[in-house]
Amino acid sequence: MRHAFTVDAEDWPQLMCSYLGHEMEVSEQFSTSIAKVLEMLDRHDTRATFFVVAPHAEQRPEIVREIVERGHEVASHGEAHAKMHTFSPKGFREDLRRSIDSLQDITGERIRGFRAPFFSMMPEQCWAWEVMLDCGLEYDSSLTTLLWQNEGVALPDGPFVCELPSGREIIEMPALAQRFGPVTGRLIGGRTLRVLPAGITRSHMRDREAEGLPAMLYVHSYEVTPDRLMRYLPSGLPASDRVKLLISAKAFEIGMGRMTRAIESLRHRHAWGTVRDVIEDLRGAALPRVKVRCSGEIIPPVDTERA
Ligand SMILES: [Zn+2]
Repeated sequence: MRHAFTVDAEDWPQLMCSYLGHEMEVSEQFSTSIAKVLEMLDRHDTRATFFVVAPHAEQRPEIVREIVERGHEVASHGEAHAKMHTFSPKGFREDLRRSIDSLQDITGERIRGFRAPFFSMMPEQCWAWEVMLDCGLEYDSSLTTLLWQNEGVALPDGPFVCELPSGREIIEMPALAQRFGPVTGRLIGGRTLRVLPAGITRSHMRDREAEGLPAMLYVHSYEVTPDRLMRYLPSGLPASDRVKLLISAKAFEIGMGRMTRAIESLRHRHAWGTVRDVIEDLRGAALPRVKVRCSGEIIPPVDTERA
């Protein structure tokens, strides 16, 4: 069975500077890190879905076109790369629409999926699924099931179909998470893959395959190959901001050297594809169905039931 290989394609230096209020062009790091990921995927004959931040793609369209030319899928990672709770339904619609239009213009391909930055969609934002369908999307990958459980909403631990108040449906491909002592790690990718013992990932993959469920790997393009993120920052930043950025950069650089080896070992043991490939494989399967009762900004009760 195929599992979903996903990459959040974004420019760490530009995002971090913009969060601190500094204007900055997209750095070279955006293209070079994606190029390295593409090389790695080619080496292993693996297709992946790249969730791309649209303004970064606009400044470096050639590398985004290359993603598609090499047989991968491009999906939306939004325009502002903002957490979901910061959006009104109207604001989210504008952000998503702009990102889809822009990515479709650049790639010439229809955009079918979205991932919220930081997997930040919570039950209060379940109106967003209606907006995604209005914008022509077919699937979403924006939430972490453990965080919804903490809010009292039990969700299936794999892909599921959301039945919306409008009568329409969208497929959700959630990130799973687990507590490891004091640390909570998303499965599988990011910090879990870089820092925590490889046995965690191996056991997760064994469990998924035993249950007949696809796993989802996620990495940031800038996490995959060893690099020094600080070298892409502009000069002249205030010292206090440089310290904040250094702390954040160091947190991402921990275990960066291990990331490629961890992914390569996963590649040898399991089959991978794009999110669209995985959804295609699941067609006809009895996916769990989640009934969503919400409209507008009303905070919803969510019922879940297995098909
Ligand atoms: Zn992101």
